[in-house]
Amino acid sequence: MPGTVRSVRVVLLGPPGSGKGTQAARISSRYGIPAISTGRLLDTEIAAGTPLGRRAESFVRAGELVPDDLVLDLVASRLFGARAAAVLDHVPAGTVVAAAGTGSRAAGTGTAVAEAAVTPVPDVCSGFLLDGFPRTLAQAEAFDARFAAAGCALDVVLDLDVDESTVLARIARRSRDESRLDDDEETARRRLKVFAERTAPLRAYYAARGILRTIDGSGTPDEVAGRIDAVLRSLPDHRH
Ligand code: ADP
Repeated sequence: MPGTVRSVRVVLLGPPGSGKGTQAARISSRYGIPAISTGRLLDTEIAAGTPLGRRAESFVRAGELVPDDLVLDLVASRLFGARAAAVLDHVPAGTVVAAAGTGSRAAGTGTAVAEAAVTPVPDVCSGFLLDGFPRTLAQAEAFDARFAAAGCALDVVLDLDVDESTVLARIARRSRDESRLDDDEETARRRLKVFAERTAPLRAYYAARGILRTIDGSGTPDEVAGRIDAVLRSLPDHRH
């Protein structure tokens, strides 16, 4: 039933072409939570020619990951506000220590001002969906350290499971229908390889925390959405 899930904090995991964007839009409108796509946020920065966009563009075009510090800035400014983003800007990538359950700290800042500034605004905790983030262990750890301490930890990570040939076919179709910076076949293969090397390890990370749910991503968007709904409705803390 629509409306039975509230305040859910979701990450959509899955390789390029697994249907994250399609499902993100559906979950967002069905449950009234913002869908935050780092891919779309980066596109916007690149199109606007901002300093961050200019630094990110070559990575996106090559099918490589944008450096963690840039992506964390983007997510922080979307979830925490511009002031926090400015603070996080000075946290070198890879130096944020995961500290779920024990408070959080951003190594390298260590000041009360930085601690205060990275506390998310209350309504952030009332539900969101992240599409395309985190994509590396460092991103996941940085995110957990900041959000878990604020009582705003992730509820569930939905891993869209689609085989590689399906993914390549979907990306090929998308590159004919839309113009993206990164959908030619060679770049698509590169993105799949990057996923396998850098992002697939997040499955074990979230499985160890008991929040990973694998979703069969084959079939129509409606079929996949139905499977996702079943999982979201089964989350014990979100039944009403
Ligand atoms: P897809 O879901 O098809 O992989 P996205 O739109 O999510 O596409 O991402 C497109 C590109 O944007 C990625 O290949 C990468 O260059 C960059 N990107 C998006 N999210 C991240 C992230 N969390 N970390 C690093 N790079 C990212």
